[in-house]
Amino acid sequence: MRTPLALLVDDPTPLVHLYRHHVYDLEPGQAGTPTGDGRPLAETIPNEFLTKFCDLVAARGIRGKFSIVPAPAMRGDIVRGIAGYPPELTRAWLEEVRRLAPAMDFGPEMINHSYALDLATGAQLGETEHTWSQRQSRATLTPYLARALAYFREAGLEASGVTSPWMFGEAVEGEYVAAIAAAQREVFGRSLSWYCLRWGEDRPNGRPWVALRQDGNVVVSTPFTVADRLWDTIWKHGRLDRGGMAALADVYVTSDGRGGIIPACLAAGGWPGIAVHWQCLWSNGHETGLAVLDEVAVRINTILGDRVEWVSCLDLARRTAAGPGG
Ligand SMILES: [Zn+2]
Repeated sequence: MRTPLALLVDDPTPLVHLYRHHVYDLEPGQAGTPTGDGRPLAETIPNEFLTKFCDLVAARGIRGKFSIVPAPAMRGDIVRGIAGYPPELTRAWLEEVRRLAPAMDFGPEMINHSYALDLATGAQLGETEHTWSQRQSRATLTPYLARALAYFREAGLEASGVTSPWMFGEAVEGEYVAAIAAAQREVFGRSLSWYCLRWGEDRPNGRPWVALRQDGNVVVSTPFTVADRLWDTIWKHGRLDRGGMAALADVYVTSDGRGGIIPACLAAGGWPGIAVHWQCLWSNGHETGLAVLDEVAVRINTILGDRVEWVSCLDLARRTAAGPGG
């Protein structure tokens, strides 16, 4: 049997360059910091970039998960539109996103990937969703997750899992997992779902595991086992030449298939869960990360194709739930 492999994309959302919000608005003193090529982080990731990503996923047969932040940075939401832009642009983005199904599973990265909200009043709580989450229980996390999932239901998109903004819920993971099961049951009637929280660093022997099996509900942890190597494409590299891109691709898998973290995962018995961030694929408009991903996917398909198989997050969850120890 071939080893399952998945691309796990964090931080997509319509129009808003969420990473810019994180750096310029959430980190004191960082406002306006330019990248290595002297430009500030751009405000908008244009819809055309999503089209290019969808084209690449289709062309290379990539599978995995695609997060969507439903109300990014408190600037509107995926149902009503993003503040400052014509609502048609958000609608067009969401229509384009449907091209990714069923290769990529969808799920929220909580509500806004910014300051946590008081659900009753809509007021910001003055701490990020990450910080807020660490002291919560299933009683408070379930309605919060249900609110995030409800945006998807309203937009007509199935969300089969969730992703943690930052390390959301890591200090109370048992409560968080119980909340995922309850919120998925409530909003989508789902009994099997997945979540992305753990690692984000290289764990060559890492595989998903069943985090909860109770009352007919199963929740599977689908970890990031291959770290995102593309951050420098935002800040340092600017536009890379072919050699520069090939060198970055080598970190994932060399052109002879012998070196790189993905072959190391296969050797160690792990299932590669490749972490990438939307802003790292876009590379502040250079699209360097996307070009590197394309090269990596070609190498995976041509050199490792008889050993690996692209699967979606829900497929990872199904296989893990059905497998030994599941
Ligand atoms: Zn994120």
